[in-house]
Amino acid sequence: QTVLITGGTGFIGRHLIPLLQKDNYKIIVISRTPSKYENDFFFKHVELVKDFSQVEHADIVINLAGANLSAKRWTNQYKQEIVTSRLDTTHDLIDWFSRQEQKPHTLISGSAIGFYGARGNDILDESSTSGSASEFQVRLCSQWEDAAYRAEGFGVRVCCIRTGVVLGDEGALPQMALPFKFGLGGKLGSGNQYFSWIHINDHVRALMHLIHNKDLQGSFNLTAPNPVTNEVLTKTLGKVLNRPTFMTVPGFALKLTVGEMAKILLTGQRVIPKKLEESGFEFEYPELEQALTQILK
Ligand code: NDP
Repeated sequence: QTVLITGGTGFIGRHLIPLLQKDNYKIIVISRTPSKYENDFFFKHVELVKDFSQVEHADIVINLAGANLSAKRWTNQYKQEIVTSRLDTTHDLIDWFSRQEQKPHTLISGSAIGFYGARGNDILDESSTSGSASEFQVRLCSQWEDAAYRAEGFGVRVCCIRTGVVLGDEGALPQMALPFKFGLGGKLGSGNQYFSWIHINDHVRALMHLIHNKDLQGSFNLTAPNPVTNEVLTKTLGKVLNRPTFMTVPGFALKLTVGEMAKILLTGQRVIPKKLEESGFEFEYPELEQALTQILK
């Protein structure tokens, strides 16, 4: 079976590829710059292509491409890029599906817990409604999922993965841990807002679970079963790194440094992986301290 991955050169893709290879899947990765990875030993047995027209057939598609959310300040221009990089790729993908004589049987497509919007301490599972359309990340995730679900029109099984903050050697954690290493770690704002996270190994194991269990479809929360408040996150990071955490980063300072993304950091979301757990998925890292210890030590 062949698996096509858009954005497969990124943080999640690089952790997923070895699991797929272990199960003998043939892998094709779509990248804007395939030549960049030609001599990369990691991609030795992966076919790298620039666009869908170069892909003859795939059985399973994993759609991860999108401009990085924390690479730049969210100016209006960058927000536009965050949206178009995801929606254009997904619409191109569906157009490619429409042209394929033999369609892929499964599409697993990116989304994020931003789908639920700012909901205080409400416990959010897959039956919760989406947040207010006035919020940027709610509109982004809803449109991204709607685009992916178009594939159902071709009889394709579609799973959208509402991903929490993925903790690993790349992504958000190295940035989050940096001030702690200088003894400047501290809670953000009130510290009461929830942080829904998932260990990278569990994230890619959950993707394999969705690939293998062909009766699963629809949207799934990819978050650990124990989200924590920002205060608990701060204390746990301090404990694992053995650093003090008496600082508080006031909300206004955060808005100055990271701009609109501060809204996400200050409001938070309390999301649980109800459908994954009901389908028998078992987390290797259900607790934050255990996850952070494995990654940072
Ligand atoms: P990365 O940023 O590491 O990788 C995404 C890939 O997308 C890149 O390798 C890149 O591939 C491609 N890409 C980047 N910019 C653009 C662009 N402007 N147009 C088209 N393609 C682009 O992301 P992750 O692996 O961390 O995440 C994968 C997906 O999951 C993302 O869409 C992300 O939003 C979502 N997600 C991730 C979370 C996390 O904590 N990591 C949390 C919630 C959701 P190339 O340069 O080869 O083209």
